Amino acid sequence: MKTDNIKSIAVVAAVIVTSEGILATQRGSGDFKDKWEFPGGKIEAGETPEQALMREIREELDLEIRIDSFLDTVDYTYPDFNIKLHVYVCSVISGILNLKEHKSLKWLKSDGLYSVEWLPADKVILPALENYLENVTVDKKDDMPAYTYLQEGHFALLRKPVPHIVNPKDAIVRVTLSSICTSDLHIKHGSVPRAVPGITVGHEMVGVVEQVGREVANVKPGDRVTVNVETYCGECFFCKNGYVNNCEDQDGGWALGCRIDGGQACYVRVPHADMGLNRIPDNVTDEQALFVGDILATGYWAARISEIKEEDTVLIIGAGPTGVCTLLCVKLKNPRKIIVCEKSEERIAFIKRHYPDVMVVKPENCKDFVMQESAHGGADVVLEVAGADDTFRLAWECARPNAVVTVVALYDKPQVLPLPDMYGKNLTFKTGGVDGCDCEEILRLISEGKIDTTPLITHRFALDEIEEAYRVFENRLDGVIKVAVNEN
Ligand SMILES: [Zn+2]
Ligand SMILES: [Zn+2]
Repeated sequence: MKTDNIKSIAVVAAVIVTSEGILATQRGSGDFKDKWEFPGGKIEAGETPEQALMREIREELDLEIRIDSFLDTVDYTYPDFNIKLHVYVCSVISGILNLKEHKSLKWLKSDGLYSVEWLPADKVILPALENYLENVTVDKKDDMPAYTYLQEGHFALLRKPVPHIVNPKDAIVRVTLSSICTSDLHIKHGSVPRAVPGITVGHEMVGVVEQVGREVANVKPGDRVTVNVETYCGECFFCKNGYVNNCEDQDGGWALGCRIDGGQACYVRVPHADMGLNRIPDNVTDEQALFVGDILATGYWAARISEIKEEDTVLIIGAGPTGVCTLLCVKLKNPRKIIVCEKSEERIAFIKRHYPDVMVVKPENCKDFVMQESAHGGADVVLEVAGADDTFRLAWECARPNAVVTVVALYDKPQVLPLPDMYGKNLTFKTGGVDGCDCEEILRLISEGKIDTTPLITHRFALDEIEEAYRVFENRLDGVIKVAVNEN
């Protein structure tokens, strides 16, 4: 068969799913008379595939549809032409079905998909459709519980409509497990001015992909995924240099659970899904993967930028959840000594119990201890993860000359940089928020047993108990470090 120089046509088709089943239509004329197909037609000049599909369904069936998910593109070569068939799963929003071009129709159940004689290109789509139907639950729901930022000081569990694909790069993820982060508390207390009242909070979550937009290539319905705290386009100057925290896209940076709806809910819409979602390896559980997109990404990034060498003494200030994640990632660099500075007895006990090879010191003894334990008058690398009133000062005071001081902490107040006191110490400061672009590598390390954050999960709740989860986490009750909220 000669395949070059033959005509190529771009076509769209709708898999219309209703409670009756899936709509199949039968051709009444032409080369493929009597064969069955998913309704649709050619994309005309100037139309997006989605616009073409809505027009075709209006023209052929008198129906107004909503496009729920991109399914797949079939590239099929017939004897004298080639088609690129873009297939979407759709729901009916209005209209009375009227067959204007086809001779008959059938509503097929999911186990009867192969019961009609399909056009060859349409038949190719059936395995992807079966996979979709097996995994999707969002299309059976109108609303869901969603933990919502009402106004300063107030969050509440509301019922909200389930999210839909808005942009071709979006995915809808069914959240299976989420967590509460200190940043959620900052929103609650009004210290995140860009947070938008009315949004669903939550930016630490894992789940299952249910629906995707046309331009999503890396994940498909049914994939278990981590969700990155940062959405980023992958194309702007900052993204191309790995500085995804500063992505220039309107949804770039920390948007989920801050400027757009987040994941303390049953479903979440994730923009730029190819960038922000990472498939979880089969041998990694949801609990093992829960912190990959936020606090573990932060610890990994902090360790990566801190230029740690094997002969180094590394000081980590703060053994909260992010401090522990930082510790786990610093350990991967095998420095000669790791010292953790922490004031809470509970957290000191946690470090001693889980990481006996790490030295622990309280803030008041930290400087003397570090001087004793280091060969060159201070730590070679300091990571400041505490963000308390005097921990920035402690960080640079404990550093040896020419050390790297990485500031991971987010402070409530401005900090003083007393340059005259530091003169000649020639320190390198690194600051900022995580560039969360190493999630695939982090998942590989978890899968290989090299990172385990599950000891951080001290408390577990269901989504309808989320008020209680916040109360425990916010007031640091009962030895809590991190909570896991189960959305199922
Ligand atoms: Zn966070
Ligand atoms: Zn970008």
